[in-house]
Amino acid sequence: MLKLPNFTEKSIVSLYYSFISLLYPPVCLHCKEVCDPTTILCPLCMQKLELVPIHGRCNRCFCLQETCTRCIFCKKIAPHWDLAASAFEYAGPIQSLIHHFKNGSSFLAKTFASFLYLQHNTLDWPLPDLIVPVPQSFMRGFERGYDPMALLATELSKLMKRPWHKVLRRKSGGIPQAHRPCHERLTLSKELFFIKKNALIENKTLLLIDDVYASGTTLNRCAELLASCFAKVSILTIATCEYTKIVLCDK
Ligand SMILES: [Zn+2]
Ligand SMILES: [Zn+2]
Repeated sequence: MLKLPNFTEKSIVSLYYSFISLLYPPVCLHCKEVCDPTTILCPLCMQKLELVPIHGRCNRCFCLQETCTRCIFCKKIAPHWDLAASAFEYAGPIQSLIHHFKNGSSFLAKTFASFLYLQHNTLDWPLPDLIVPVPQSFMRGFERGYDPMALLATELSKLMKRPWHKVLRRKSGGIPQAHRPCHERLTLSKELFFIKKNALIENKTLLLIDDVYASGTTLNRCAELLASCFAKVSILTIATCEYTKIVLCDK
């Protein structure tokens, strides 16, 4: 008698995924080379993921001291925060991953949170009382269907075992900083952000998180608001854009 193969639910699912990957082979999110379905980057791009060394930088603005002697950048933006750092240089695979994270690939929040956690440990900063994500406007949230920085805060909060809260709100309108030319990035309306009513942040240490630290204007506006409520603010971002800082220092 003909014996039918015993298809379990698991084997049907794996057969389905094999078929799908035959039609649409998984590719590296940066260079688009076909890669292992269990990874997001090919081995070559994965090798390029290196945490930014923390030495030789201003611990206030995180600028490389060799390009920013006596910290012109600190003078330029007058930070309202105490400490700032980033996990990566904004280039190569990280640039692509951030783009994907903000345009549909919400699952990357876990990966980025692990990197932020690692860099935070390297910096040896004390754990914050509260993690605060840089807010997106209601309209951006509506377009995206999710809030990347809130997801990042959720994942980081699990790793740090510290709470997170959407303390800040952002009004709709205005051009995103990334779409503005370098020379316009130091100006940003103070009214663009506001603090949520009844936010209990007085005398608390806050870790403000964002994707890219470029001109620092958005972060500084947020830090200014938080500091006005007597909070102590540190900044941690996924990436730092050294190029923008150099251009701004030269102005
Ligand atoms: Zn690649
Ligand atoms: Zn500095």
